[in-house]
Amino acid sequence: MTEGLISTIQGYSTKDGPGIRSTVFLIGCNLRCAWCSNPELMLEGEKDMVFDLNGVKHSEHVGTRISANQLAEQLARDKIFYEESGGGVTFSGGEPALQAEFVKETSGLLNEMGISCALDTAGNVPYEVLEDLSTEMDLFLFDIKAYDESIHKRCTGVSNQRILSNVKRLAEQGNSLIIRLVVVPGYNDDRDDLKNRLLFVKSLGESVKRVDVLPYHSLGTGKYQRLGLHYPLASDLKVTEECLEDIRSMAEDLGITIHIESA
Ligand code: SF4
Repeated sequence: MTEGLISTIQGYSTKDGPGIRSTVFLIGCNLRCAWCSNPELMLEGEKDMVFDLNGVKHSEHVGTRISANQLAEQLARDKIFYEESGGGVTFSGGEPALQAEFVKETSGLLNEMGISCALDTAGNVPYEVLEDLSTEMDLFLFDIKAYDESIHKRCTGVSNQRILSNVKRLAEQGNSLIIRLVVVPGYNDDRDDLKNRLLFVKSLGESVKRVDVLPYHSLGTGKYQRLGLHYPLASDLKVTEECLEDIRSMAEDLGITIHIESA
């Protein structure tokens, strides 16, 4: 039985796919997004986060090793909620596709119990990994962080060529996709690039079931402190209403329905 490294399981989640879901957060990622709000998931391995509560230092351990069997059993306890709401389980992170064997085994067990699964991915893995996982996934939540390669590299530390090619191939194979477009002021809010991102999403066709625009939020700032890390972004960074209006209008012109999450 394969073992994986997870941080938490968030129950009764309504933001990571349809219906009521359990979202499993896996540790480790091969991107380094400047705005990452989950540094404890981005960095490899188990770790301790130290925080100060009224002058007293507390330590929170991040990372649990768990077998696919144990995890599937735990997740199946909420099966009734998944069934009644059209929900299921979402594997997120971090980058869950980096623990593909574990995710595949767990989702296979869940599928056998009639539980639907989704993968929330940034897609920077060989296509074969995603193709293999697609046999157990009813849905991919796929992040596209920039269209221009140099913007993508500056924001995440890696090229987006493989990522764009992967999402295109998943779409061509008829996989259901929710596309997520994070927008961070001064990083990936160039209007031409946003338009190109939307055009690219349109080119993916019918496989795209929903497009979510995620304006930057600074909720992860405290976690950097607890890990003894420097948070690289300005604390008052906020996507302007003007920028969101531009995105709305570009999407409308292209005939794309978008959902803008509240920041
Ligand atoms: S892909 Fe997600 S987890 Fe990885 S660095 Fe970017 S925001 Fe963080």
